Amino acid sequence: MQKKELLYEGKGKKLYATDDKELLISEFKDDLTAFNAQKKGNEKGKGELNCKISTQLFEILTKEGIKTHLIKTLDENSQLIKKVSIIPIEVVVRNIATGSLTKRLGIKEGTVLPFTLAEFYYKDDALGDPLINDEHCLILNAVKNRADLQKIRELGVKINDILKPFFAKRDLKLVDFKVEFGLDKDGNILLADEISPDSCRFWDAKTNEKLDKDRFRQGIGEVKVAYEEVLKRILKA
Ligand code: UDP
Repeated sequence: MQKKELLYEGKGKKLYATDDKELLISEFKDDLTAFNAQKKGNEKGKGELNCKISTQLFEILTKEGIKTHLIKTLDENSQLIKKVSIIPIEVVVRNIATGSLTKRLGIKEGTVLPFTLAEFYYKDDALGDPLINDEHCLILNAVKNRADLQKIRELGVKINDILKPFFAKRDLKLVDFKVEFGLDKDGNILLADEISPDSCRFWDAKTNEKLDKDRFRQGIGEVKVAYEEVLKRILKA
């Protein structure tokens, strides 16, 4: 597989073309951003950790029947992926209230939600990724129809149903996470992007210590140590 030109550089990854027009290379970066890129940082080795964590989680989800863009890892920090057209909706799935949910609705930090909450945010940096409802998604043409919207909501919840017990067995609370989906050339919805401590919140089950990007957002420090701990627990049999 030949790596060709850089097609796109996002906050956390670079996408390269390959000699196969249906396949891309996704390279995980060491950069960290928060608050719509107002806070910037870099943590050497973070890209490799996220690549390994995300690959493991995508492989687990594949075994459980979730279709993803991942083909295989190529090296420490890159994956060969299927080319998809990204649906511009961030699907945020929550088990415990924190972050923007507590700020927006005044729900007490740490409240265990009575059921899995799935929310949609419009992927638009200029607008600050606003929370949107089903009708907004359709008016914005972010999805073709209600059926696709329902499908990405159900996929978000199913991913949570698989990952929440997986992490619970490893003494980690999956507090919330963000996933993105894309359409392949045949219109199939595939899980895309990444699932990593950059896009999830993990709290230690015993101490509630944060083991995710909140360490960077809140300036707690030891970001890489926390990501290494998450990988170690994922690899635990
Ligand atoms: N999230 C993300 N990218 C974003 C916004 C949120 O990966 O652009 C993740 C975030 O890491 C957390 C979940 O989505 O796991 C919910 O984030 P929230 O809405 O609470 O936003 P925040 O408090 O980060 O502003």
